Amino acid sequence: MNEPLTAGIAVVGGGVVGLACALRLAKAGHEVVLVEPETPGMGASYGNAGTIADYAVMPVGTPDVLKSLPSLLFDRNSPLAIRRAAILSLAPWLMRFAWQSLPHRAAANAAALATLVSDAAPLWAELAAEIGGSAILQHRGAIYVFETAAALAGAGAAMQARRDLGVTVDLIDSQDLAALEPGLPPAAGGAFFPKALFLSDPGRMVGLLAKAVADAGVPHIRARVDRLRRGPDGVHLSGHGLHLTARRVVIAAGAHSRDLALQAGDRVPLDTERGYHLEWDMPAPLLSRPCCPTSRGFYLCPMEGRLRAAGTVELGGLTAPPSPHRLARLNEGVSAFFPQLGAPSRSWMGFRPSLPDSLPVIGPSAEGPDVIHAYGHGHIGLTLAPVTARLVESVVAGTAPDRDMLPMHPGRF
Ligand SMILES: Cc1cc2nc3c(=O)[nH]c(=O)nc-3n(C[C@H](O)[C@H](O)[C@H](O)COP(=O)(O)OP(=O)(O)OC[C@H]3O[C@@H](n4cnc5c(N)ncnc54)[C@H](O)[C@@H]3O)c2cc1C
Repeated sequence: MNEPLTAGIAVVGGGVVGLACALRLAKAGHEVVLVEPETPGMGASYGNAGTIADYAVMPVGTPDVLKSLPSLLFDRNSPLAIRRAAILSLAPWLMRFAWQSLPHRAAANAAALATLVSDAAPLWAELAAEIGGSAILQHRGAIYVFETAAALAGAGAAMQARRDLGVTVDLIDSQDLAALEPGLPPAAGGAFFPKALFLSDPGRMVGLLAKAVADAGVPHIRARVDRLRRGPDGVHLSGHGLHLTARRVVIAAGAHSRDLALQAGDRVPLDTERGYHLEWDMPAPLLSRPCCPTSRGFYLCPMEGRLRAAGTVELGGLTAPPSPHRLARLNEGVSAFFPQLGAPSRSWMGFRPSLPDSLPVIGPSAEGPDVIHAYGHGHIGLTLAPVTARLVESVVAGTAPDRDMLPMHPGRF
């Protein structure tokens, strides 16, 4: 594919965010192409925990996390760890993260997150119906599991803070927990989010989304964008075998978006929180809904034909191979709940695209609306894909967005 191509809108990146944007823009009548070097949907969007986490209104950086940050980061076994080799390159991101964890910043970030996730569930229900994926969208809630009485007692204030931000959550005791999830070993209690949705197979749902994008007439250009440059006739995208000029470009390359954003004129402190999953094939996956033992930082998720344990955070950049140590710790954590499982059927690592304030970057480039940012969704990119698509569509149409986009502005740092 060496001949120069032209397009109305080029969406760069075919993860759940780019695909949702491409579908929405194509359905609105725009001429859209998708530029993605791999099979769409095989990045972070493939291996996540599948929760439509409209209850995840707390940023990763909070005053409590800040207090324990040094011990968390430098303990190789903690749910939030750092690769030693990456410490220097991550220092600027960590300093911003520490600032965003101060009480006033964390409160502002939580309020912005609450606004963003508020209608994620109905928008997902709409999207799933549109692409033939309603059977994958489960309406059985999600649970934070507290293993000790102290953790349960300490959760009251945190859950009230979520209620204050519009989240429906019930604190439940060990009996209620056992009634909801008889497959779990006894625990002190939990926080039940009864309205939460989850996907019983995120990979399959994103596959349906990719098919809907193709069916909407969006060509898939199988290439990586290395260079982005503005010209008089539009935005030029180039890479190996790629010469494309588009009137507009949506950058949706997940954790890989920082260099493209910089070439568009926006310096964004995007980095990655690496996350892992392990899966065990089984016909009945032991649980009815995603359960997160919060102190361990991963979810136990019932998926189609398998149990998936997904989560933990490892600050470690985009190039290093997966850490066998992190996978072993994840396996140990799961064994505390299900010692009968044996060796996992498969493992996976993915790159959460993360900003220090836990908010995505959505909106026009500071240099002009011919480049639109749509990445950086961290722990809730699956949740926010349809919300992001709606906001991107309003930027393209030049209409007023349905919520305040200032907290997501690329120039906010
Ligand atoms: C372990 C784990 C558990 C998670 N659990 C949840 C959860 O329960 N709920 C939730 O909401 N979120 C969850 N997340 C987060 C969520 O998965 C991500 O935020 C989301 O998938 C990001 O989507 P994306 O489309 O931005 O990125 P990706 O899915 O990574 O897609 C980016 C795409 O861009 C392409 N690309 C990269 N560079 C270029 C380039 N130069 N040119 C062209 N294309 C390019 C890549 O090939 C890739 O396909 C989890 C993440 C992890 C790792």
